[in-house]
Amino acid sequence: MDLPEIKYTQLFINNEFVDAASKKTFATINPCTEEVIALVAEGDRADIDLAVQAARRAFKIGSPWRTMDASKRGKLMLSLAQLMTRDKEYLAQLDTLDNGKPYQEALGDIEQSIDVIQYFAGWADKIHGDTIPADGNVMTITKKEPVGVVGQIIPWNYPVAMLAWKWGPALAAGCTLVLKPADATPLSALYMGQLSREAGFPPGVINIVNGFGATAGAAIAEHMNIDKVAFTGSTQVGRIIMQAAARTNLKRVSLELGGKSPLVIFDDVDLDEAVNIAYNAIFTNHGQNCCAGSRTFVQDGIYDEFVKKAAELAKKRVVGDPWTDVDQGPQVNKVQFDRILGFINQGKEQGAKLVAGGQRVGDLGYFVQPTVFAEVTDEMVIAKEEIFGPVQSILRFSTMEEVIKRANDTQYGLAAGVLTRDIKKALEFSHSIEAGSVWINCYDHTLAQTPFGGFKQSGHGRELGPEGVKEYIETKTITMALNQKNS
Ligand code: ADP
Repeated sequence: MDLPEIKYTQLFINNEFVDAASKKTFATINPCTEEVIALVAEGDRADIDLAVQAARRAFKIGSPWRTMDASKRGKLMLSLAQLMTRDKEYLAQLDTLDNGKPYQEALGDIEQSIDVIQYFAGWADKIHGDTIPADGNVMTITKKEPVGVVGQIIPWNYPVAMLAWKWGPALAAGCTLVLKPADATPLSALYMGQLSREAGFPPGVINIVNGFGATAGAAIAEHMNIDKVAFTGSTQVGRIIMQAAARTNLKRVSLELGGKSPLVIFDDVDLDEAVNIAYNAIFTNHGQNCCAGSRTFVQDGIYDEFVKKAAELAKKRVVGDPWTDVDQGPQVNKVQFDRILGFINQGKEQGAKLVAGGQRVGDLGYFVQPTVFAEVTDEMVIAKEEIFGPVQSILRFSTMEEVIKRANDTQYGLAAGVLTRDIKKALEFSHSIEAGSVWINCYDHTLAQTPFGGFKQSGHGRELGPEGVKEYIETKTITMALNQKNS
């Protein structure tokens, strides 16, 4: 497949592609070849300011966006989804080039992103409030209004999908937005900007400023004229963002952060099926998935056999050029690649038993062997830290009580899975586990309709589903006196 032509590299502000105020650019790197793909405009505080001004103008009472029928908002979103469908191959190519994920997976991401935009398009004219029987001779209604100008900061693991999770509910609610994509994957968002213009979104509703976290990202989190910030990324940066919001204008904050999600496998399962679910739970997207099943707990009775089969399966995983028919491409960048290899070394040093992988692949690009560690114990670094790479850690357990305690013994609470034929066990586990999503006999079945987000330090708020829209809505309570004499 020919590499895609890069059509847009500037910032997208007020429906125009413009250079950064500083004229600075940064290189986005191809993780397969370590070569520069393109130089992209590097936004900073001044550009975020311009984008916020555009978003604020677009949000003003009386503006085309604020006076637009809610149903028309939904139709604009459907037009965007249609254009994404028209150009899904191109969008997928940009993500494969920039992120390194296999092309077929990138295409799957785009298809899911289209579903997300379509799902939220349906919400646009169905966001309504209540009438409340308040005491007194009054009538009280709640009016649901958009939060305002929102800043959205996204990661690089699913570039278009993370954008869709953010744009969908914000646009359905009637907000205007400033998006900062991850600096590792700046390209596909810019093309989404172009598609939004073609779909007919008024100027200023959607703005995209590429740049670095400590500059452009921080400028969003600290901005006095942004009403809400929605962030997906590490727990460490989530903390910084919340502090910035608290220090400045108390903007609303929603955070979708890290995880160290347990997948608990009881000994009554079909072993091959369980090995396969656990394999996909961790290795999907090269392990670069916030809800990856990165602690595989396996019950005593099947532990040894499970480990043997898990290692065999991981060794069969084809790693290589993401433009060909492979299971796994390179990790996204050198920082992540080095970090993952560092964790693998710590696993070895701390006495985990390496049963598959453990090395880089080749000597060019950020390819890592699918790696499996057995005999992992709770206090090992690989059982505690989010590795964000293709590294499976298999832990042993005996009883339900023990595994619930150990599975919950983490700062995170994003997701969990349980595999068993026994419905009572599945329900007991689901009831006791501290996690925003629990999958029984499946894993990572996350769709437009299903709320997603974290307990504990995995985040605040929910994305997707009806809860996703609520994050972008303010409730205005309007009370009308029915008879002035009595009020
Ligand atoms: P990852 O480790 O997955 O890159 P990060 O949390 O570092 O996760 O990054 C996720 C997003 O947050 C990216 O768009 C990044 O540029 C942005 N970011 C990083 N640091 C900051 C910061 N201090 N303030 C705001 N955004 C940031």
